[in-house]
Amino acid sequence: MQEAVQGAINVLGKSKYVIAFTGAGISVASGIPPFRGENGIWNKYEEKLFDINYFINHTQETWSMLCDGFYATTLKATPNAAHVAIAQLEQGGLLKSVITQNIDNLHTKAGNKNVCELHGNAQRLICMKDNSKYSIYNFDLQVTPRCKLCGAILKPDFVFFGEMLPEYALQMSIKACSMCDVMLVIGSTGTVYPAASLPFEAKKHKATIIEINPSHSAFTNNITDIFIPLKATKAMTEIIKHFNL
Ligand SMILES: [Zn+2]
Repeated sequence: MQEAVQGAINVLGKSKYVIAFTGAGISVASGIPPFRGENGIWNKYEEKLFDINYFINHTQETWSMLCDGFYATTLKATPNAAHVAIAQLEQGGLLKSVITQNIDNLHTKAGNKNVCELHGNAQRLICMKDNSKYSIYNFDLQVTPRCKLCGAILKPDFVFFGEMLPEYALQMSIKACSMCDVMLVIGSTGTVYPAASLPFEAKKHKATIIEINPSHSAFTNNITDIFIPLKATKAMTEIIKHFNL
């Protein structure tokens, strides 16, 4: 395992264009439950809560459920050591961007500037009529939030079941995958598509794939070059201390 960490440090040290691809696993240490598995969101809430058609037809009910459960946890979460290390890699010029499947805003909170949010961001609201965006902190979520311009209902600005991924974030991510020489894959099981196709895209462009996951993912025996079987916080803390950032 120490060998894998050292291998990753060597590769990162020689790299020219590093990007990170992160999933729910990186935010577990910040108290954000993953969607799947034990203690996962799907064990706690019904999936319909995140379904676009259900939201449209039961807006008030969905908003109050989101508010009591999901948002109560998400809004108070703070970045952990892995988020901080990734922000330091960007500030040090080694890492160019982060592609994330997470909607928790923790990469931005940690200080990353170039974040491709494949599934949106729970801390923004979007008008269902004119696409105006708002910060969630400007609303009392006990009442269904409405657009200040047109009065239409606001939806959390993350991707619900039945919705497409934001085109701009997806295009930026594909572009980053074509430019990187190293991709750090952290805390993603590789099961949610189309997001999970991005590490394959990077590999297609000859990037070295460094994977940090406590257990094997759909990437491990497929495209991963260096597998670090550790939690994100532990692995990133080990890695970052070797760089003078
Ligand atoms: Zn509006």
